[in-house]
Amino acid sequence: MLVGVVGMETSLLTALGDKTARPLARQLELHTVGDLLRHYPRRYIEHSLVTHSSEREDQRFRPGEHVTLLGTVERVTGRRMRHRKGHVTEASVTAGTQHFTCTFFNQPYRERDLAAGTRALFSGDVSRYRGGWQLTAPEFIVLGEGRSADLPGLIPVYPATRKLRSWVIMMAVRQVLDLLDTPEDPLPDTLRAEHGLADLGDALRRVHLADTWAEQAAARRRLVWDEAFGLQLAMVGRRAGATSRPAPACPRRDDGIAAAFDARLPFALTGAQRAVGESLADVLATEVPLNRLLQGDVGSGKTVVALRTMLQVVDAGRQAVLLAPTEVLAAQHARSLRAMLGPLGRAGELDADPDGHATRVTLLTGSLGAKARREALLDAQSGAAGIVVGTHAVIQQGVGFADLGLVVVDEQHRFGVHQRDELRSRPGATTPHVLVMTATPIPRTVALTLYGDLDTSELDELPAGRQPIATTAVPAAVRPRWLDRAWERVHEEVAAGHQVYVVCPRIGEEGGEEGDEPGPRTAADLLDPEDPGAGEDGEERPETESRPPLAVTEVAPMLAEGPLAGLRLEVLHGRMPADEKDAVMRAFGEGHVDVLVATTVIEVGVDVPNATMMIILDADRFGVSQLHQLRGRVGRGAAASSCLFVTDAAEGSPALERLERLAATPDGFDVARLDLEVRDEGDVLGAQQSGRRSGLHMLSVLKHGDLLAEAREEARAVVAADPTLARHPGLAGLVRSVVGDEQADFLERL
Ligand code: ADP
Ligand code: MG
Repeated sequence: MLVGVVGMETSLLTALGDKTARPLARQLELHTVGDLLRHYPRRYIEHSLVTHSSEREDQRFRPGEHVTLLGTVERVTGRRMRHRKGHVTEASVTAGTQHFTCTFFNQPYRERDLAAGTRALFSGDVSRYRGGWQLTAPEFIVLGEGRSADLPGLIPVYPATRKLRSWVIMMAVRQVLDLLDTPEDPLPDTLRAEHGLADLGDALRRVHLADTWAEQAAARRRLVWDEAFGLQLAMVGRRAGATSRPAPACPRRDDGIAAAFDARLPFALTGAQRAVGESLADVLATEVPLNRLLQGDVGSGKTVVALRTMLQVVDAGRQAVLLAPTEVLAAQHARSLRAMLGPLGRAGELDADPDGHATRVTLLTGSLGAKARREALLDAQSGAAGIVVGTHAVIQQGVGFADLGLVVVDEQHRFGVHQRDELRSRPGATTPHVLVMTATPIPRTVALTLYGDLDTSELDELPAGRQPIATTAVPAAVRPRWLDRAWERVHEEVAAGHQVYVVCPRIGEEGGEEGDEPGPRTAADLLDPEDPGAGEDGEERPETESRPPLAVTEVAPMLAEGPLAGLRLEVLHGRMPADEKDAVMRAFGEGHVDVLVATTVIEVGVDVPNATMMIILDADRFGVSQLHQLRGRVGRGAAASSCLFVTDAAEGSPALERLERLAATPDGFDVARLDLEVRDEGDVLGAQQSGRRSGLHMLSVLKHGDLLAEAREEARAVVAADPTLARHPGLAGLVRSVVGDEQADFLERL
């Protein structure tokens, strides 16, 4: 191996040899020089502080934690054990303000390695022993006297495993850096100069071998920039792809069905609904494709906004399709659109609007019977249906439309970036307008990151007269009385003419979780929704699960025979046949059911204003956004509503604290922020998940908002001049490395 001939693509096997490369591949899935160099240190230990570990490091140990520390041996002793056969070596070590004992069994030579005064980097699992801290048989690396010339001022500490210690990685990185040819820098010189960014080779070297915090910060800034820029180039590029074909212009009419609908609306639109509606209508009237993300908290009235937009399309003689993530929600949407439209939605029927302003709402889901399905398909194909409501799965299977003008996607968090592209890329000279609605509001920086291909509008106002939802966390293990009281309150609600949801995390019987409607819950899933690892329970779970989560089919009979005896109780979950689900939902909607015991199938969109109470059992098993979604099913009418998060989590546990914080946070945008805080950052941006690698390592949506915005501006400029990045091969490579080949496919498509 010659110096300077190793590139980022070179395999580690070639660069380092089998013995070093194999564990890197096996333990950390690092295969190329680039992989290894982008395996960034998690933190650094300041070498210059001779006996102190870095001030930046959390000095408190936690039992069981794996730590790497710089310490000095105070004393070392070796002896035969008294009660057992064998020899034990104990070294007392000081690291900053911490003291610990390193214990080795039957390794008498350790006494020589760790003579008093030795400075070393120790790595191992801490445990409590006789009132002090202990590292049992830690691995260690002895550092020379004084400042070791061959160590950087900041010693990198890598994400490591028990089988592959931090300094083994450090040694491999240094070996690779010694051999590395200066990598070609994908960022144009002008851009680097303008934003004061280090060059790539330098940054990669310094992030691993920094002598000062300033060097380290400059290196990291440059590397974060790469990630932000790659991501934004992908988003802006996709957007360019989405808008490269014209959309069918749908001019406004003041004598059509949209106007007739407005005239018969039973309530006044909120200011936000009106303003957003105007801006959507303006774009719809042109051939510039609408590409809009409509954010609004649960209950903010997104459906009306969407319907008014759809009616403008119908007025132009075209069709709109509304996509829902689940059959329950699709059926619910079809029902509520028909209800809102009244006679305007009954074209071809006897009681249709007499002025001839009428269209038809057609439901298209997988569980339709053959005949109903044929009719629905015909409605779509002939144009008889102005509005088609369906599940994503069904519409995707090549449904023909007479003249599709608009695609509305409800509850976007269940769909991925890739699916958006598929919607737009239907064959033909035009591309439909796209309106995406999400009920999980997303902080601006996250929106920029995950939905950077869309413009955003917000419904930041709830309809007047909404009652706040009084949310309480109920630690049932500690306060069983509270739970008894909760069941009493269910009776009181029902006696007052209201209805109640009881939500469980699991369906039961076969022991499965609610799984027929998997939804991506993290950014990684959104970028790659195909990943089977993502499910409804994709968020953090309690560490110890002493029992399986409560199940609908087990809880319902217990309630019916116990605390809720005498009430009309029904069950709803995703494994029920569609017509049964629909029948239960309809009965609940019409007030024939008092208590609905359900899984998260009711999480999105279900709209029964008379339901005023929700009890979520095992609430700690749900993610924060999901709980907020669930809670949004109540508080939709004029009556005061309440929601209880019931949990067995212990007093003072993080799980209970999370529920208490959410209970105290009514606003969706605050919830979104809380959600980010309680999640692993890596989870949000999709760093490594279940071994899958993505090119996002450092970028943080919480920390790098400004940088993301800057990167977006730069990306816009580049893509405007060179939409396929044909003249910027380095940037095309950057995009691929950050978002992966599939997400970069717009590079070929344009
Ligand atoms: P979202 O989908 O944003 O959660 P919906 O569109 O389902 O909210 O609306 C929630 C409820 O509020 C529905 O019953 C709807 O008819 C009603 N609603 C919508 N807009 C208004 C308004 N401006 N005034 C009063 N009620 C409204
Ligand atoms: Mg909705």
